[in-house]
Amino acid sequence: MQRFTCECGNVLFFGSSRCLKCGSDVGYDPQRGVMQRVRPGSPMKRCQNGVKHNVCNWLLPASAVAVLCVACRMNRTIPDLGTERNRMLWARMEMAKRRLIYTLLRLGIGPPSKKDDPKNGLAFDIVSTLSDPKVTMGHLDGVITMDLEEADDTFRQVNRQQLGESSRTLQGHFRHESAHYLWKRHLSELAWDDPMRLAFRERFGEEWTDYATALSSYYQAGAPADWGQNYITAYASSHPWEDWAETWSHYLQILDGLETCESLGIQVQHIALPLVILPVESGTLPAMLPSAPAEDGEFLAWLQRWMCLSSVLNEISFSLGEPPLYPFVISVKAAQKLRLAHYYAHAWGVRGRKTGEA
Ligand SMILES: [Zn+2]
Ligand SMILES: [Zn+2]
Ligand SMILES: [Zn+2]
Repeated sequence: MQRFTCECGNVLFFGSSRCLKCGSDVGYDPQRGVMQRVRPGSPMKRCQNGVKHNVCNWLLPASAVAVLCVACRMNRTIPDLGTERNRMLWARMEMAKRRLIYTLLRLGIGPPSKKDDPKNGLAFDIVSTLSDPKVTMGHLDGVITMDLEEADDTFRQVNRQQLGESSRTLQGHFRHESAHYLWKRHLSELAWDDPMRLAFRERFGEEWTDYATALSSYYQAGAPADWGQNYITAYASSHPWEDWAETWSHYLQILDGLETCESLGIQVQHIALPLVILPVESGTLPAMLPSAPAEDGEFLAWLQRWMCLSSVLNEISFSLGEPPLYPFVISVKAAQKLRLAHYYAHAWGVRGRKTGEA
């Protein structure tokens, strides 16, 4: 996440809706990627979900007929707002969702709303399993379903423990499901022998492995004992699609985490820890993709900076009596998968910019 400033010079954050120094109403302009003041007569107006429900601080052009910002426009179903609890949980959901959309926009792969582009667009159903017990979180044909209850910290922690996960966050849910959407949009329709698709298979395995069988055997038998050698999380071992989704989610997490540290002046060269040096092959792409040693090197340097910063974050967390903020170990194989995610992000972003999408 970047560091933002108000026109008065004060620092603003991604969630700000008012500047504490000059008192102006402010909001985030997703087109320009900046925080802006909003007042009567401004070229931008606040999203209706902000005005009415106080759950969004994004802006849209004042001249637009639409009343919702690009992120809120993707909602197909929102929770029942009859209770204050639901409104509060929904606000957390929307915050996590906006962070995802922010990162995708920065990568040049911001998805259109399914309302505007039924084939390639993205929509969200945010529903509570308390009111509708049949709801399961996931992605299907451009629709991401989220269980509102996951925004309840206790509910989420119980799930985390039952599923044996080291980390479970709303942000992670959105990032994970976005991977399934991107897979469908950018990879599923490529020819079987397209290098992008062959590379996927090389790193993540054979995606035609029966999904339902793979998942049920994962839930019965758990991950292989040595999963840490091959996967970023235990769940990633369940199926190549889940491996991809966990990897992509992790890639976005590092992207955001590192950007936040660096934009706030936490620089790796000032940290009194030795840099973890990953073997060169950690940063390489599968052979069917054009080799790019300079980019491989940049990627590795980026990943090593994050590994160093994340040990600092963990130590701070321990000092505060909390569990590690970053409970992950990146193996060579997991790094190679992250490298492919990085390659895809760039390739899709370039294509998105060329065709004027997003
Ligand atoms: Zn200000
Ligand atoms: Zn909005
Ligand atoms: Zn998944």
